[in-house]
Amino acid sequence: KSGFVTIIGRPNVGKSTLLNRIVGEKIAIMSDKAQTTRNKIQGIYTTDSAQVVFIDTPGIHKPQNSLGDFMVKSAFSALHGADAIWFVVDASMPRGRGDDFIINRLKEIKNTAIYLLINKVDLLAPKDLLNIIASYQEDAPEWAEVFPISAREGDNVSELLDNVVAGL
Ligand code: GDP
Ligand code: MG
Repeated sequence: KSGFVTIIGRPNVGKSTLLNRIVGEKIAIMSDKAQTTRNKIQGIYTTDSAQVVFIDTPGIHKPQNSLGDFMVKSAFSALHGADAIWFVVDASMPRGRGDDFIINRLKEIKNTAIYLLINKVDLLAPKDLLNIIASYQEDAPEWAEVFPISAREGDNVSELLDNVVAGL
């Protein structure tokens, strides 16, 4: 089994942290500053029975200039041809315009499993999780799966990997 997974989300939601945890190497650049990840960086997760190639995307936001515009186009190009898309959001912040911008593009994608990953659940009171999930159900694509995770702590990440491998 093998396949491609594209990780997308607005800056600082934890995409690089998640990719680093999965591939076990510091290949993706992490920073609190937006736009630090400037390239599509590929990591490969390999088990006895499966190989998954991950594509991290540059910080996605409404472009402010031509470099930003190029980076956004580059990130969205990585969506086409993926076997699955992981849309990562930050559980510690409400859904915002940056999330909506990406969600509107995701609505155009057909025939690809789009996962909603609610990251940073370590920062969240458990009782707030259902409300966060509900806020991403309205005016959004139909999520193939919804996974609350903590990329930093590793919570639910192996379950997420098993799920995506099972779908390949
Ligand atoms: P990216 O811009 O989406 O690639 O985000 P990064 O992976 O660079 O992470 C942005 C910030 O969020 C960093 O300070 C990370 O340490 C932090 N972060 C990432 N995942 C988690 C998480 O699960 N829990 C917490 N508390 N912080 C996280
Ligand atoms: Mg990053």
